[in-house]
Amino acid sequence: MPHELPKSYEPGAIETRWADYWIKEKLFSVPTPPPGETRPVFTLLLPPPNVTGRLHMGHMLNQTQMDIIVRWHRMRGFITLWLPGTDHAGIATQMMVERDLAKEGKKRRDLGRQKFIERVWEWKKLYGGAILDQMKRLGASVDWDREYFTMDENLSHAVREVFVRLYEEGLIYRGKYIVNWCPRCETAISDLEVKHEEVAGKLWEIRYPVVGSSQFITVATTRPETMLGDTAVAVNAKDERYTHLHGRKVLLPLMQREIPIITDDLAQPEFGTGAVKVTPAHDPNDFEAGKRHNLPQIDIMDEHAHMNPNAGPYVGLDRYEARKRVLADLQEQGFLVGEKDYTLALGKCDRCGTVVEPRLSEQWFIKIKPLADRAIEAVESGEITIVPDNYRQIYLNWMNNIHDWCVSRQLWWGHRIPAWTCSNEGCKEVIVAREAPAKCSKCGGAKLEQVSDVLDTWFSSGLLPFTTLGWPEKTRDLAVFYPTTLLITAYEILFFWVARMVMFGCHFMQGHEQDAAIKKASGWSDKKNDSVPFRQVYIHALVRDADRQKMSKTKGNVIDPLEIIERFGTDATRFTLAAMAAPGTDIAFSESRTDGYRAFANKIWNAARFMFMNVDRIKPERLPAMGGARTAIDGFQRQTLEDRWIFSLFNRVAKDVDEALAVYRFHEAANRIYDFFWGAFCDWYLELIKPRLNFEGGGDKTDARKACENLVKLFDASLRLLHPFMPFITEEIWHAIYDGNPPLKSIALARYPDVTESQVDIAAEVEMAILQDLIVSVRNLRAELKVEPKVKVPIEVFAPELEIRAMIEQNRSAVERLAGVEKITFVEESLAKRAGARSTSRFDVHAVYERKIDVAAECERLKKELEKIEKELGNNQKQLGNEQFLAKAPAQVVEGLRKRAAELVVLREKCRSKVAELGCS
Ligand SMILES: [Zn+2]
Ligand SMILES: [Zn+2]
Repeated sequence: MPHELPKSYEPGAIETRWADYWIKEKLFSVPTPPPGETRPVFTLLLPPPNVTGRLHMGHMLNQTQMDIIVRWHRMRGFITLWLPGTDHAGIATQMMVERDLAKEGKKRRDLGRQKFIERVWEWKKLYGGAILDQMKRLGASVDWDREYFTMDENLSHAVREVFVRLYEEGLIYRGKYIVNWCPRCETAISDLEVKHEEVAGKLWEIRYPVVGSSQFITVATTRPETMLGDTAVAVNAKDERYTHLHGRKVLLPLMQREIPIITDDLAQPEFGTGAVKVTPAHDPNDFEAGKRHNLPQIDIMDEHAHMNPNAGPYVGLDRYEARKRVLADLQEQGFLVGEKDYTLALGKCDRCGTVVEPRLSEQWFIKIKPLADRAIEAVESGEITIVPDNYRQIYLNWMNNIHDWCVSRQLWWGHRIPAWTCSNEGCKEVIVAREAPAKCSKCGGAKLEQVSDVLDTWFSSGLLPFTTLGWPEKTRDLAVFYPTTLLITAYEILFFWVARMVMFGCHFMQGHEQDAAIKKASGWSDKKNDSVPFRQVYIHALVRDADRQKMSKTKGNVIDPLEIIERFGTDATRFTLAAMAAPGTDIAFSESRTDGYRAFANKIWNAARFMFMNVDRIKPERLPAMGGARTAIDGFQRQTLEDRWIFSLFNRVAKDVDEALAVYRFHEAANRIYDFFWGAFCDWYLELIKPRLNFEGGGDKTDARKACENLVKLFDASLRLLHPFMPFITEEIWHAIYDGNPPLKSIALARYPDVTESQVDIAAEVEMAILQDLIVSVRNLRAELKVEPKVKVPIEVFAPELEIRAMIEQNRSAVERLAGVEKITFVEESLAKRAGARSTSRFDVHAVYERKIDVAAECERLKKELEKIEKELGNNQKQLGNEQFLAKAPAQVVEGLRKRAAELVVLREKCRSKVAELGCS
């Protein structure tokens, strides 16, 4: 059985091969568990990327974290469902297709609605799968059999059902409202989709003549063209400058319309002249004031922000053209009295950058308060936990100040609102229904037309936690997988998406109960409310460039994850993101780190080659027991110190990894595994067992076989521990361990190392630390004495504790081999004062080597060491003298500090006596 691994690790080919294999074998598909199932369940919904999307670093981080958590749960025996899909992304997709059309010199209206939508579907078929293909290359362990698209018929059906139910419950209404209107996209957009930018603008002052007098009132505006739609001028009731004008009228210049002077708090005496123009159809605050005073709303623009007939002589002009003309005319007629530089926050469309126009229009709204109340309660009561905790307060603040949600969009691509208008002129009834009604319910007319608006994209994605599981049917999938367990997402969609899922989930799944046996097995108290869409939300950080700058196209510092993967491999890229992902901290992504983790993969690869070389020679009999593993390393035989030590350490690391992942401390988990695999396993364990494996030199063949079996078992367990972080290299080596014929189809289905705390062997860890200390001390001494690498030196060791001495005796050959030692002599007197010696609290060691010690250099070294010891001791004693700390710290920690303090005192003594001996100044 030859185990041929190529000399160097080439991630590219290996990764694509396994990624394809996982999909072909349907390894991550989850059939619906039947009643009676008692295994725990873990469910996670992939935040659906837009069909227009391309993978960026944010996705890469998000997907890495999800895949780690998902694989970890799957390996621990959870029925693990990770549900993938894409979002139809209304505006974004429509714009993409419109851009294509523009190249042919066409607009969407040239095609008409139906043809245009067909065109979008064609586009989706051709390009909409790009981002999922990229996910497949990453090896994301999702259930591809359950892949959804938000415009799928079953999901669209659920959307209609939700809309109609909300309408029937009185939670949906139509109303005139000032919305943010994008004249380019020709649609209303939500506050969240408007980007505010500070720009240098102007503030113009215009005077309006008071009717029946020679006086004027002066108002100021940054958008003078809107004066064409003014229906009042407001002053503050308390402003004495204007008391005499209460109840009078002004004549609106250019339009020759008489409009009233009203008193309203909209006008602030301390701001400008204290008088303001009121344009209810073109400003949200004026809109509210207009409602208070029953003012007419005069809409002067069309959907393209061109002037309509209400703008009188300016009809047909674009808004900026109209502005110029209005200003010129005001100037000419003597009404323009001032022009100042002014900085204003201009709202721009998040999608296309066009300046947003506040516009009066007929829209559909969700009355949000009743939905928000329960969504607030779900988080306040802890039914849903948000990690890191600071986002909880941000969520609550936002939810407590939420406005009704405008859900209609004037687009063609999306879920069309299930409402029909009666074409009968005298009727115009609006009917909301699940299916197209045959006739008008009011007048009986048969001519009905469906409302042309579609729903905001976030309306359908807000329903996904239950619609993807079969709602409105009461399916078994819902009973098993709802509530989903966890949501991992970015902060930027906390309100767009997360909050809406909570509102919809709590409302439509009210009264839902998860399968009791599964709920219990999954560790949830039966008192937990099951209407919530997920039990926990983890908000991940941002990935920035190496200088902590936000990535942006304009700065040109965008890092393309696919390019990084091409160069370093997916495993190394994933590991970088995991190792740097401390909760709540943005990641400063640097290629040098990724390069370091590629080296880590190489190290593992070379260790595997070493193992296989020995396996082929020694031919051990027992391969690791799979599936049923109940201890960290099943069947591991502890005999030597290095065996006891590595077994203990492995258990400890596995426990730390479990604890870290449970609270999303990905960086701690990754770093623990890294230190173990490289620092302990490769650098020490492999070196320590080499002589036992080389039985040909006169060793014991049975022992060699045992050592080799241990090695394979430890390697197997370490691969399983690492698998969620580096799925590809671990799969490759794991299959090689079983000669391509493993007991399970994939390491991803193998058992994650279970920890048995009683297997932690503190004595072995302490002894090993001393042994490592000794070897490192001698290596350092050799370096200082400039001993040629090939020359072996005799050493003298003073070890007053008998057990320590015995331990060193037992591991004599390891010290000799790993530290280049010829002979170890134990002495009965401290060597601390000897030049060219090293001291620790447990032993002194001295290299017997004829070379004049450089006294000055040695003194320098000792001085530094003494400083270090004193500093640590100082800190240590400060902590031990701190009552508050002592009261809070675990007993173990305090005990550890005391021990260390005693050690440091011994070390300080040794160091001082040597300084005296050498006569250092
Ligand atoms: Zn736009
Ligand atoms: Zn009718």
